[in-house]
Amino acid sequence: MNKQKKADDANDHLGKNFLVADFSAQKYAELQFASPAEVNEVQNRLFLQHLGYTLARSPFYKKLYAQEKIDITKIKGVADIGQLPLTHKADLLLTQNLVCADKNEIVDISLTSATSGTTPTLIPLTSTDLSRLAYNEEIAIAMTGVNQTDTLLVCAALDRCFMAGIAYFLGGVKLSASMVRGGSGSAAQHWELIKLTQPTVIVGVPSLMYKIGKHGLDNNENPKDWGIKKLIAIGEPTKNAKMDLLPISRELESMWNAKIYSTYASSEMATTFCECEARNGGHTRPELIIVEILGDDGLPVPAGEKGEVVVTPLGVTGMPLVRFKTGDISYMIQGKCSCKRTSPRLAPIIGRKNQMLKYKGTTVFPNAILAVLEGDHRFYNGYIEAQKNADGTDRIILYAALTREDVSDTWLKEILQAKLRVVPEINRITRQEADKKVCQFDKKRKRITFFDLR
Ligand SMILES: [Zn+2]
Repeated sequence: MNKQKKADDANDHLGKNFLVADFSAQKYAELQFASPAEVNEVQNRLFLQHLGYTLARSPFYKKLYAQEKIDITKIKGVADIGQLPLTHKADLLLTQNLVCADKNEIVDISLTSATSGTTPTLIPLTSTDLSRLAYNEEIAIAMTGVNQTDTLLVCAALDRCFMAGIAYFLGGVKLSASMVRGGSGSAAQHWELIKLTQPTVIVGVPSLMYKIGKHGLDNNENPKDWGIKKLIAIGEPTKNAKMDLLPISRELESMWNAKIYSTYASSEMATTFCECEARNGGHTRPELIIVEILGDDGLPVPAGEKGEVVVTPLGVTGMPLVRFKTGDISYMIQGKCSCKRTSPRLAPIIGRKNQMLKYKGTTVFPNAILAVLEGDHRFYNGYIEAQKNADGTDRIILYAALTREDVSDTWLKEILQAKLRVVPEINRITRQEADKKVCQFDKKRKRITFFDLR
């Protein structure tokens, strides 16, 4: 078969009309409640369109699939996705090879927030990507029961090339809610905005929502008095792996007399997993994203088992990705939710793959240690260090300062044993030592800092 014929066959197979998915809440309203077979049919079509568009335009994927000798005609739907290679975070640093839109189609250049010391990635968006982003947040916000009668205070940066703030803003506008662009203001500024604009919903990072409420309390005003009904938590999990609310989430609910809803999103996937009113995991939206949970061997794990979240965001045209490794660890919750939506739900993010520690024959995440100690009044503060032993295993040392320095740390070992089933090495430090080592921001939340020295 000559080269041109092969390319034509591939295009025929994927469908020539692969441009621009048309997203509207009305169009996909029914899909949320559809049977798995109906969902599969829609998702197969969107997936093949996405693949067709990406392969026709992306220098990166063209080269990768040629190198890996991928026969695209064998990809008939989502069930065959495992035949395609994975996309790594490092691949994204070569943005120019991943961009599929012409210069004149790009309307916004976003940057990732560069977590764990990595270089930020450029994410160019087309106008359809911005519409897709707005649709994504419109349905995510609506999932929590928010509607056009609500006023939302967005406490996330709308500038400096961040995607989250603008996404929530656009989504809220699309929902016809009233939006208050608090942006990256200080806790004091957000507090003043609450008093001026009387929002019913706050969108923000849990630690910031805590600081805003604390600011009110420090000024003899009660956050409960201002009519906030919902807190939409971004950037940090609200629950542990067993789906229990973290102490900070319980504290926030009581502080604001509001319900907290968890969302999980990232700039690379440009898609949000938001909890519905049942608050039982973030609903996936089949028209927007394909989610896989992969084990260490790169193969999918059954629902309920932990693995790396790998995503294929559908319908993105600026920088479309296929099988992107997020580095986040979680698991899927199958079965109908009490809200009657049929889509599988993503459990809380348990940790980052690169922070996974192999310890005494089990896997531990620094986040899990944090979830045990955060909010316990006996624990003052501390930090965790991970080191590599000569035999390749990990060494975990918890440097802990207790509220009362004259008491023993037996309870600390017991609580870790009971909830984690393993106890890291514990090194007692004084409160001053903890204060010196733990950054100011984390101190307020009693958040344990993790130093990865492996
Ligand atoms: Zn639900």
